[in-house]
Amino acid sequence: MLPFLLACAHLESTPSDGAPAGGGAAESAPTGDVVLTGATVVGRGRVDLGFVDGRVGDTTGTPVDESGRWIVPAFIDSHVHLAYLPEPEAMAAGGVAGVVDLAAPVGFLAQSHGPLRFLGAGPMITAPAGYPLNSWGAAGYGLGVVDAPEAAAAVDALVDAGAGLIKVPLAGGPELDDAAFAAVVAQAHARGVKVAVHALDADSAARAAGLGADVLAHTPVDPALDASAWKGRAVISTLGAFGGSTTTRANLAALRDAGATVLYGTDFGNTRTPGVDPDEIALLMEAGFSGAEILAAGTSTPATFWGFTDLGDLTPGKAASALVLDADPLVDPTTLGRPVEVWIDGQRVAAR
Ligand SMILES: [Zn+2]
Repeated sequence: MLPFLLACAHLESTPSDGAPAGGGAAESAPTGDVVLTGATVVGRGRVDLGFVDGRVGDTTGTPVDESGRWIVPAFIDSHVHLAYLPEPEAMAAGGVAGVVDLAAPVGFLAQSHGPLRFLGAGPMITAPAGYPLNSWGAAGYGLGVVDAPEAAAAVDALVDAGAGLIKVPLAGGPELDDAAFAAVVAQAHARGVKVAVHALDADSAARAAGLGADVLAHTPVDPALDASAWKGRAVISTLGAFGGSTTTRANLAALRDAGATVLYGTDFGNTRTPGVDPDEIALLMEAGFSGAEILAAGTSTPATFWGFTDLGDLTPGKAASALVLDADPLVDPTTLGRPVEVWIDGQRVAAR
């Protein structure tokens, strides 16, 4: 609960200037179409990578020498709160091209989110006076419903307002009953969107799986977790947001081993590092995830899972959004947290 409590202190904060972490990129950034030469494009080998009109294209642009480096797609962070910490430019400069926002007032869904591809839940659907309405989220971060018909209507209202997924908290206090939760799931699926659940304890996680939820918004922290219930569903890592305990790391590995899809996510807004978070990468490594698994969890897997159709790989036609790295991320995943350059939609937005 602590990270969500911390959040309320930030609701009134003003955005920072969003300066790229690397600084100094603006003076020397190449403009127009470019071709990144001499690097290893992970998954494609030693190929020249052309960026044309913001997309991966032909190799006729201005050459940029990237010899001795590795290139991967820019990341997708599957758990952020940009309403708490509105720093989309800093996120992009740190290597994130797409975000999934897991709680904001409904009006936030229609706002611009700068350079980021954005999928938002809007307010969580909860019981009247349930979490987060009973604490930090009284001002629009929750939508209280009394029964299944109201729950289904809330899903329709949110999707009509632009929600790309639905979030339900099972966080203690008043919660949706089984009928209302099931109605959320049924209506969300009828509208083509997934249901994320905030469920940190084993009983809540089991209940959510039994009622058809698609994705755990956090890795549960409870040693009694039954990972097998999440086979064929998904989990967003957020290891750093809750301290990255041994139990939590073991739960994430158990969920993976049970057949759950693992998505990289940081809870940015509650955590404070814009861009690819070195702490989350380190905790995933400590949880036993390989470089290939970490890279997939931040790129190709969430692109498919959430429907970010132009992110997640660097084949022709996809967004020219990429990280240039100083090491092979399949061997040394820590390099993902310190990109040498970040390109978003064909623009170099950070370099060091
Ligand atoms: Zn969160």
